[in-house]
Amino acid sequence: MPSPRKPESAIDVGGVPRERILGWLADQLKVARFRDYAPNGLQVEGRAEIRRIVTGVTACEALLRAAIERDADAVLVHHGWFWRNEDPRIIGTRRRRIGLALAHDLNLLAYHLPLDAHPVWGNNAQLARVLGLLPDAAPDEGGPLTLGSEGLLWAGTAPGLPTLAALAARVRERLGREPLLVGEPDMPLGRVVWCTGAAQGMMQDAIDGGATVYITGEASEPTTHLARETGTGFIGAGHHATERYGVQALGQALAEHFPLEVTFVDIDNPV
Ligand SMILES: [Zn+2]
Repeated sequence: MPSPRKPESAIDVGGVPRERILGWLADQLKVARFRDYAPNGLQVEGRAEIRRIVTGVTACEALLRAAIERDADAVLVHHGWFWRNEDPRIIGTRRRRIGLALAHDLNLLAYHLPLDAHPVWGNNAQLARVLGLLPDAAPDEGGPLTLGSEGLLWAGTAPGLPTLAALAARVRERLGREPLLVGEPDMPLGRVVWCTGAAQGMMQDAIDGGATVYITGEASEPTTHLARETGTGFIGAGHHATERYGVQALGQALAEHFPLEVTFVDIDNPV
C-alpha cells in the first residue's frame, strides 16, 4: 500500500531544476568575488532536477556511497575535486570517485572559500557560534572584522573564558575532540583570532592583528615555534572538526528556500 504523500514536495513536482539551485548559491555565496584553488559551483554534472541532497565536508568515496545509498541527486561539499596543481589523470581513487558520480548521475556541488567566508553560514561564522566566540564588527559595521591579506581570518573575544586552558576545554567539549595546544594554560585571553581548516600558514597575520590566541584546524612543525617565540597561544582544533558546520548551515538554508530533502552525513576524520 502506498504511503500518504506530502503535497507540494519536490518529490511530487519532480524536483528543483539544478540551474535554479546553482544560481541561488552563486548569488548567496558571492562566488564571483573569490579567486580560489578549485572551481566553485557545479563540478560534475548529474541529473537536471534535484530532490535530495547529501551534504558533507569532503567529496570522498565514503560520502559518495552514502549519497547513492540515500538515492540523492546531488552531493554538496566544502572540499570538492579538481584542486590546482593536482595530478589531472583520472586514475586510482580519482577514477573511482568520478566513476561513481557519473554512473549514478550525481551532481557534485562544491564551495570552498565562499563557504569559509560567508558572514552567516560560513565555516568561520559557524565555528564562532559553536564555540561561543563573539566576532568583532568591522569598523563600518557592515559585517564581521576580518584580518589577513585575503580577509579569511575572524577576530573577536571569548566571553566567559578567561584563560587559554578554558578556551581549550570549550573546544574539546563542543567539537568532541582533543585539541592540540601550544602555550601557557593560565595565559589570559584577549583578542581571539580564528580561521577554520588548514590556516596555520596565516598565523603571522593573526599575530599582526593582535591575537593573544589563534585557533585553526591544523598545525605544522613551525607553528609551535612561532607560537612560543611570540607568546601567542595556539589551538589546533582539527581541520574536519572546524569545517563540519558551514555546509550544514548552508544545507539548512537550501532546505528552507527550496522544496528539497537535505541530509548531512558526517564521515569522521581525525585530522
Ligand atoms: Zn578545508
